[in-house]
Amino acid sequence: MKIATCRYRTSDHLAIIQNDMALLPALVSKYPGFASTLSFIRDYRKARELLDALQESEKDRATVLTDNITLLAPIPRPTKNIMCLGWNYSEHVMETSAASNREAKLPEHPIVFTKNVTSVTGPDGEVPLDAAVTQQLDWEVELGVVIGKPGYAIGSENSMEHVFGYTVINDLSARDLQFQHKQFFIGKSVDGACPMGPWIVTADEIADPHRLYIRCDVNGVRKQDSSTEHMIFDLPAIISTLSRGMQLEAGDIIATGTPDGVGFARTPPEFLKPGDEVVCEVENVGVLRNTIVERTG
Ligand code: MG
Repeated sequence: MKIATCRYRTSDHLAIIQNDMALLPALVSKYPGFASTLSFIRDYRKARELLDALQESEKDRATVLTDNITLLAPIPRPTKNIMCLGWNYSEHVMETSAASNREAKLPEHPIVFTKNVTSVTGPDGEVPLDAAVTQQLDWEVELGVVIGKPGYAIGSENSMEHVFGYTVINDLSARDLQFQHKQFFIGKSVDGACPMGPWIVTADEIADPHRLYIRCDVNGVRKQDSSTEHMIFDLPAIISTLSRGMQLEAGDIIATGTPDGVGFARTPPEFLKPGDEVVCEVENVGVLRNTIVERTG
């Protein structure tokens, strides 16, 4: 199942997407689990039962063409920062080490930073670039993991039970800010730096999340082209590490790292500018298509 957040007329809705149709269950039911993707994820079992029990006539009344909705990020305002893996693909470790004249060394433990919730933006549309703030905005396609079942100290053998589903994330990075401030937070959190979506695909639809192609094109030119099989730390390792000492909650989002092919490590380095179109894709999950525009206010 593909679960999205969309704007329909003047309000935001949980939507179940099927081809070119979107079911907006809140149009026919006031059940609180249908109020948002977050409430749906938190109350998934019951919400799913009620969804399946909708009459055909109710489903008809609650279904609109996707042409009539605008997709937003599936969780437009997460309840906590996006947890992000740094250096989780070995080829990316190699390229960034070479670009920084450092000895390439694979991490012994997952490296984790976060992106501010205010950086989250939709799967289509515009990402503002403030040239007075950054001259080095860079792309990073990533597989996003959305937690369903909460947990503390989750063992890696049980970890996949805690995954609700998957999404695509572009971990846009202002490299000048990222390196200048040592900690990544500012450089990873400029407004619009976290395109996400176009929906969450539930975990039952992805047979093996460690065997999906992952790609990024800029203006139609392929820049990143890899597979999630090349992750250094797999999802069980990431989930068990994050939940060790910190309760994971329904709706938490993890960006699992980017493969090689980022802009700053290229020769010569490449960065995004107004007018550029960035397309990020993860196999069987979806496609993000964002245009960079000059920030005007
Ligand atoms: Mg990243």
